[in-house]
Amino acid sequence: MAVLIDGAKIAAGVRQRVADEAARLATQGIVPGLAVVLVGEDPASQIYVRSKIRQTKAAGLASFEHRLPATAAQEELLDLVRVLNADDRVDGILVQLPLPRHIDSDRVLDAIDPAKDVDGFHPVNVGRLSSGTGGLIPCTPLGCMMLLDTVIDDYRGLKAVVIGKSNIVGKPVAMLLLERECTVTVTHIATRNLPDIVRTADILVVAAGAPGLVRGDWIRPGAIVIDVGINRIPDGDGSRIVGDVAFDEMDLAGAITPVPGGVGPMTIACLLENTVRAAERRRAVAGDFQPVPA
Ligand code: NAD
Repeated sequence: MAVLIDGAKIAAGVRQRVADEAARLATQGIVPGLAVVLVGEDPASQIYVRSKIRQTKAAGLASFEHRLPATAAQEELLDLVRVLNADDRVDGILVQLPLPRHIDSDRVLDAIDPAKDVDGFHPVNVGRLSSGTGGLIPCTPLGCMMLLDTVIDDYRGLKAVVIGKSNIVGKPVAMLLLERECTVTVTHIATRNLPDIVRTADILVVAAGAPGLVRGDWIRPGAIVIDVGINRIPDGDGSRIVGDVAFDEMDLAGAITPVPGGVGPMTIACLLENTVRAAERRRAVAGDFQPVPA
């Protein structure tokens, strides 16, 4: 049986580390602050933003909440980002996506000060990640690496396969695995012979948004499987959340993340960690929060 990688427990450890570091910074009069901006009433976004704010406060960080109506003009949002860029109490800025269709998300993300870009989506941070020069790393990929770190000591030369090439998960996770000197293959919807490629993987990271895509007979014995997928599927009269991996078929895997309770809880924990990291860099104070090791 595969070892279960307990994301809920590991995320609790990260949150504790953040809280300890925040308490230490408080003795120097520093309270790292995270500003969360929500535009409109998207129900899933409201839930995410509520959890982010709750966990920010629970870790002892300052939380600044900004809500704009769905009809807000792009310029109004850009003005708010400029105000937050200039606000010294704010170390991290998160604009919850998706934004309403009349707003150009790229322009908004580009306007965030890269030093406060705790989502790691600004082109400067994307560039730093691809050149291995230590910017802020997107939260979900950072969480995936922390989970892998619990079961892998030496990444060098391991074969890693990533399914999905999105800017928020697939590509950055591939970059992080490359930094660790894995041999990385990135696959996507147009990839041919996907099962055969997956069969070569020592590490498999799946971020496709396709429920049950990866089957048991695709898995190389002992492979480490990180399932990023979050899919709501019908179940009886209701529904339930499943990943992109056919979890019940994963007997051959060496270790695997469950869904829910795997990557999901890591994302907000890493957002808090990125906020403290941004605070320490921006305020030039010594701290324990180092960039993800290469
Ligand atoms: P996306 O839709 O932007 O990208 C999906 C990628 O998967 C694309 O590159 C596509 O080519 C590839 N793909 C889709 N179907 C495929 C198939 N059948 N075979 C091979 N490749 C396929 O999605 P995303 O934003 O990267 O998210 C992916 C999944 O991860 C979703 O289920 C999402 O909900 C989940 N997610 C979870 C977290 C978390 O916190 N755990 C964070 C972000 C995304």
